[in-house]
Amino acid sequence: MNKSPSAIPKNIIRPLAIITLICLALSSCGGPAASGVYDGIFITGSDAEMTGQMTAMDTFMTVSVRGGGVTADELRQCMELVPDIESRLSVTLPESEISAVNAAKGKTTAVSDMTRDIISRSLEMSAMTDGAFDITAYPLVRAWGFTAGEYRVPGEDEIESLLGLVGWEKLSLDGGGVTLPEGGMIDLGAIAKGYAGDILRDALADAGAVSALLSLGGNIVCIGSKPDGSKWRVAIRDPQDLSSYIGYVDICDTSVVTSGGYERQFTGDDGKTYWHIIDPSTGYPARSGVISSTVISEDGATADALSTALFVMGVEKAAGLRREYGSFEYILVTDDGGLVVSEGISHAFTPYGEREVVIAR
Ligand code: ADP
Ligand code: MG
Repeated sequence: MNKSPSAIPKNIIRPLAIITLICLALSSCGGPAASGVYDGIFITGSDAEMTGQMTAMDTFMTVSVRGGGVTADELRQCMELVPDIESRLSVTLPESEISAVNAAKGKTTAVSDMTRDIISRSLEMSAMTDGAFDITAYPLVRAWGFTAGEYRVPGEDEIESLLGLVGWEKLSLDGGGVTLPEGGMIDLGAIAKGYAGDILRDALADAGAVSALLSLGGNIVCIGSKPDGSKWRVAIRDPQDLSSYIGYVDICDTSVVTSGGYERQFTGDDGKTYWHIIDPSTGYPARSGVISSTVISEDGATADALSTALFVMGVEKAAGLRREYGSFEYILVTDDGGLVVSEGISHAFTPYGEREVVIAR
């Protein structure tokens, strides 16, 4: 099920009514990967306020360009880049470059510059997060049934043997292409939407857009500010009450990406809930105490990869990572309902209701 930004529950409309554009950091919610559902771009509005919509990368996407700068044809051409990126990077489309890499059985696969670039970025994110973000975790993601939507709890032996195939240092990327150990597989699901959003944002800016808001499922990207100079307001969903929000953040020229366990999960026969973000060090769904992680960064691919990584790493390691690298801010929700907000974004974040906020420095 995809959530469109028009699906704003009534209990939030009044408090946020002053906002001219509410964009919800909602998700590509729910179901299994079903790539290839792209069936065109729908453009509405005038030059002053034009909106393009499409379904691609398993999610509903909208691009709202304000204050002119691009024509409807230009907007369409920019948005068409996304299904093209998807056709290379999808793990479920049999013709994609990633499917070729995953079918290579230990041989080297030649890839395009774009695929090489995103894999190289992914390896950097793995090194930065000490393996919490790892595209080679795919054999595990698949074993838990998150790709096909056929959920199951794998046995301990199965997880143990799959862990032997996982590890970003086992992937080699050189002039010849991508090489994985036999049986190894990759999945760019935790970074591809962020990467695509950056390309779409740059294309729109090159075409002349100076004020725009892009919503690619749980990924929000903005160009400039609103035409009146005020910031874009992005509401962040409450992972414990999906009809409500933990608060909102006011931003310009940046990306906001949320990863939540609620987006894809199932309950096992043991009564436990299992979700789609896997801790590559254990082979099990991550249980760090963080149940929703939002990352704010100028670079959307970084924000996307880190939103997944911080979900795996938890509160303490997230703070350590930010102290070490800077270049991003975050908002975490913990399983006891707590909110942890990094110092650099705390002034721009407004919690909703009576929530207490812990500021991470
Ligand atoms: P969403 O796809 O809902 O936006 P994420 O960006 O957090 O959420 O990506 C989660 C997806 O990334 C999973 O569905 C899976 O395909 C893959 N994945 C799961 N765990 C990891 C991990 N530790 N590192 C990298 N990719 C992961
Ligand atoms: Mg991600």
